[in-house]
Amino acid sequence: MRFLLLSLLTWSVALAGLSKHIASYDIQATLNHKTHTITGNETLTWVNDSPDTVSTLQFHLYMNAFRNTKSTFFTESGGQLRGDQFKGDEWGWIEVKKMRLASGADVTKAIRFIHPDDNNAEDRTVIEVALPQAVKPGETIQVAIDFETKMPMVFARTGFRKDFYLVGQWFPKIGVWETAGFRYSTQGAWNCHQFHANSEFFANFGRYDVQLTVPSEMVIGATGEQTKRVENVSNKTTTYGFHQEDVTDFAWTVQPNYIRVERMFEAAKETTAKEIAYEAKLGGVPEEDVRLSDVKMIVLMQPEHAEQIERTFHATRAALKHFGLWYGRYPYKTITVVDPPYGAGGAGGMEYPTFITAGTSWKLPPGSRGLEEVTVHEFGHQFWMQLVATNEFEESPMDEGLNTYSTTLIMDKVYGGIGQLPITLFGMNVWDWLHLPGISDLSLDRAAFLMSPADDDLLRKSWQYYDSQSYGINSYMRMGVTLDTLERIVGHDTMARLMRTYHTRYRFRHPTARDFAKVASEVSGQNLDWFFNQFFFGNRLLDYRIGEVTSEQRRTPMGRFEKGGTFQITTRKDARKADDANDESKAFRKEYLGTVKIQRHGDAVAPVEIVIRFKDGSVEKRQWDGEYRWVKYTFVRSSEIESVDIDPAKKYRLDVSFANNSWVSKYQVEVSTHWSANVLFWLQNLMLILTSVA
Ligand SMILES: [Zn+2]
Repeated sequence: MRFLLLSLLTWSVALAGLSKHIASYDIQATLNHKTHTITGNETLTWVNDSPDTVSTLQFHLYMNAFRNTKSTFFTESGGQLRGDQFKGDEWGWIEVKKMRLASGADVTKAIRFIHPDDNNAEDRTVIEVALPQAVKPGETIQVAIDFETKMPMVFARTGFRKDFYLVGQWFPKIGVWETAGFRYSTQGAWNCHQFHANSEFFANFGRYDVQLTVPSEMVIGATGEQTKRVENVSNKTTTYGFHQEDVTDFAWTVQPNYIRVERMFEAAKETTAKEIAYEAKLGGVPEEDVRLSDVKMIVLMQPEHAEQIERTFHATRAALKHFGLWYGRYPYKTITVVDPPYGAGGAGGMEYPTFITAGTSWKLPPGSRGLEEVTVHEFGHQFWMQLVATNEFEESPMDEGLNTYSTTLIMDKVYGGIGQLPITLFGMNVWDWLHLPGISDLSLDRAAFLMSPADDDLLRKSWQYYDSQSYGINSYMRMGVTLDTLERIVGHDTMARLMRTYHTRYRFRHPTARDFAKVASEVSGQNLDWFFNQFFFGNRLLDYRIGEVTSEQRRTPMGRFEKGGTFQITTRKDARKADDANDESKAFRKEYLGTVKIQRHGDAVAPVEIVIRFKDGSVEKRQWDGEYRWVKYTFVRSSEIESVDIDPAKKYRLDVSFANNSWVSKYQVEVSTHWSANVLFWLQNLMLILTSVA
């Protein structure tokens, strides 16, 4: 009887929404502002959607990352994240007070801490519970958990500062059961990683119904749609209800003095028939699939940043529109954009389902598009990691990198790049002072990639990168540059179709980098294994360079020659005489032997175009497969070689040096010295800015 009932429940749960609801939560929680503590109870409804019999459950207790300096997070990070240091004694933790099954069994005593990633016995971010009765294939289990969460001083995405709270990773959250064939799994097992310094998250889709009781003076924002608001006059608290389906997480924020502004994204007004028709044609999909839906945009802004409300809405609109047009409509009814207060920057630049934190400063330099960039990027995570829910622990470039690539496209299209970097010196805008042009994200991404191109493979488990800089560079910028290179290889239209296909095929699912590679070859109709094996799944560095270029005038041949059956010697002297006569003669057509040697200094092999220009204006193009270490081209021409360019279209932004890709017969001093003199100067500021978003 129990089995039958549960099977029916599974059926309705799994088909209720757009996604398979594997893990759904009903949570009631109360914030105690004095103690910075959240007391809650949750009922988890978990569906065993696999053919395996599951005899244990594993849960993340993320907040224990901030419990003490012996946690894996602290050991790895030294108590800092993205430059923010943990200070003071406001540690964070979570305790499971009680865990019961719907059958009535109390399993609290069966809880044990496990450390699947690093054997750190002091880490308490993952628990395992042995079940008295295993969950059979297709069955659903309900678990009631009482918990208490102490919020840390905010520095790493979550926490409080004064009366501001950004509450993420705050409740016991079940891991992902991976059956054989699911992602990289070869046998059924829990995927439930510890909380690491350089790591984000991974979870199944589900429904969240959350009731939050907070001091009444607080302004609230959360994942999903608000369903209720009840004033509890007796203790000056208010209970809010939020509901959201088809998401993987739930986060919320409160602060008394937020300015809360609501605007509608009206799809019909934001897009034109022409845009819809264009994207439908490009994607090869019906126009109906491209049309967007209305979304309520909610901005929670610090009063001192009020002047940036309009800019935040503008960027949110642009992101809703373009991500939607390119990859499929944003399917949720709300998006909440949070601006954390001064001193809580650690909570900025972070993404949760339908809920993102941006981050602005009191006075933004006029040319800077940092605010727009962060807003577009964080919104982009609704598509890359929320809707297409890759494993951020294991393949961070698949969310951060795809998002970097998409963000760049939007920033270039809507804002003409990210404008100027906010660098000031003695009160002067360095950007204006140096007369630097507005820059695109892509050139910054490439510059960052070049800071340490050889430290790691692009794809690693996030805590296994050489250091946090390498994690950042590979996850964000290097993947951005890699996808840009892919776009230049397959062409803009094909790339657009590829990204749309990958997104729509894996929306509400959990693909891997291998799935992306498969879609790329399928959509482009090309075997792209050479590209993916070297640049995605390996760490081959690309560096083509000019070896030697010579143009030698051909002179009168000398030596013994056969002519009409007899032999005759052309002496050195005769030849020189003939040369002199030729040089003086206007009628004589000079002939040059041009030689061009191109070298492959990197270990990556990629087909490349080489363009040779001659002084008479003629041009030769060669396609080199790059297979051997070098190639030599010779030309017999009436003109000397003027210049040689490898990959003149700059298809391979992955080439670690552009400087050795060109040769000109007369060295042109004015070329790029202006830039190179200043490059180091702003590169030093670069990492600070670029690693400040998640
Ligand atoms: Zn991000």
